[in-house]
Amino acid sequence: MKLVASESLSRLAALHCSACGTTHSAFDLQRVSTCCNLPLVADYDLHEPLSRDVIDQADTSMWRYGALLPLLHDENKVTLGEGMTPMLNLPRLAARHELSSLLLKDEGQNPTGSFKARGLSMAVSKAKELGVDGCIIPTAGNAGVAMAAYCARAGLRAVVVMPRHTPQAFKEECYWYGAEVELVDGLISDCGARVRQRNADGALLDISTLKEPYRLEGKKTMGYEIAEQLNWQLPDVLLYPAGGGTGLIGIWKAFQEMKALGWLAPETRLPRMVAVQAQNCCPLLETYAGRQPNCHSYQGSATLANGLAVPHPLGEAMMLRVLQESRGTVVSVSEEDMLAGMRDLGQQEGLFVAPEGAAVWMATRQLLATGWLQRDEKILLLNTGSGQKYMENVAGRATR
Ligand SMILES: *Cc1c(COP(=O)(O)O)cnc(C)c1O
Ligand SMILES: [Zn+2]
Repeated sequence: MKLVASESLSRLAALHCSACGTTHSAFDLQRVSTCCNLPLVADYDLHEPLSRDVIDQADTSMWRYGALLPLLHDENKVTLGEGMTPMLNLPRLAARHELSSLLLKDEGQNPTGSFKARGLSMAVSKAKELGVDGCIIPTAGNAGVAMAAYCARAGLRAVVVMPRHTPQAFKEECYWYGAEVELVDGLISDCGARVRQRNADGALLDISTLKEPYRLEGKKTMGYEIAEQLNWQLPDVLLYPAGGGTGLIGIWKAFQEMKALGWLAPETRLPRMVAVQAQNCCPLLETYAGRQPNCHSYQGSATLANGLAVPHPLGEAMMLRVLQESRGTVVSVSEEDMLAGMRDLGQQEGLFVAPEGAAVWMATRQLLATGWLQRDEKILLLNTGSGQKYMENVAGRATR
C-alpha cells in the first residue's frame, strides 16, 4: 500500500540504509534495506523549525511526540498507554554507594510489563497503516508478549516463535492475547531461522528486531522522555541492557534529533552510553574487545536475562557506533550478580525489576570499582522490564 503524508502531523520524510546511507521510500511497506540487507532508519524533516510546544502535553503516553514519530494517520494508532514511565530517584542505593545522583527510569511499568510495548505499539500501528494482515516475531519473551497484545488490539493475526526454555508466564500471556505460539529448542537466533522458514512466502510482516524500521522509532521515545523529564538536562552516563540494541540505538537517535531540532542547548554534552550484557551471551563485548571480527559466529547460552540472549544482533555495527560516538563502553554481568542486583533494588528501593534491569545496576557498581564512573556523575539506569514474568527462574533466591 502506498501512503500519502499530506495532512499528517508527522514529519516523516524517508528511510535510509544504516550501512550505506541510500534513501528508501518511507511510504511503502519496507523490511530491511534492499541495497545491503541491513536495518533501515527513519528520517524526519527537521529543517522547518519545530519547537518543544509540539509535544502534546495532554497525551500522557509516548505518542505525545507525534510529530517526530512515523505514524501518518491517527486512526491507525494502536495504543495501550505505553511510555511516560516514571523517572525515579534511588536515594538509598545512592547513599550506600556515595553517589551524588542516581536515577532509574522504570520501563517495567509499561503495558505488558516491559519497554517492548513502545516498539511494538509503533510497529503494529505502522503494520496496520500499511495494510498488513498479520505479524510474526522471534522473541526471547517480552517482545512476543507485546506483539501479541498490540496485534489483538489491532485485529491482526499474531505468530510468536520463542525458545522452549522461556518462563511459562511469557508463553501464557501470549495465549491469552490469542496469539499462535511456536516453541523452538535454542535461542532467539534459532527462532529467527524458524520464522524465516515459516514465513517464506512473506504473508506475515516479520517484526524481528531491526528487520522493519519502526520498532526503533517506538524505542526512541525513551530518549525524548528522558530529556523532557530531566528538564532538558541530560545525565552524564546512561546504562542500558543491550540485546538486539534497539533501545541503545533509539535513545541515541532521539538525542541526535533533539540536537538538530535545537531542543537541547548547543553546549549540551550527550551522555556516555553503556551497553550492559549477560556474561552468558555477550557478543557485543567480544567484538568491542577485539576478540572476534563481528558477532556472526558467536556462541551464546541461555541467561536469566532472556532479553539479553541475542547471540547475533543484526544491529551490532549500529550499537558499536553509538558506543564510539558517545565515548561509552560495554560491560557484562554474571547470573549471580543479576540476582544480587534484584535483591539490591528490591530490598533498598522497593523495585521488583527484571534481571536485565538488575544487570544494569551491577554494571554500575563494576564501573565505579574500576573508576570508569565517578561518584559525582549523574547516572541514569534503564530498567527495561518488571520482574514478575521471570518468577519461576528467580523464585526462592530473594535471600541468596
Ligand atoms: C528485549 C529486552 C532487552 C534488550 O533490548 P534491546 O533493545 O533489544 O537491546 C532488555 N531488557 C528486557 C527486559 C527486554 O525484554
Ligand atoms: Zn545499503
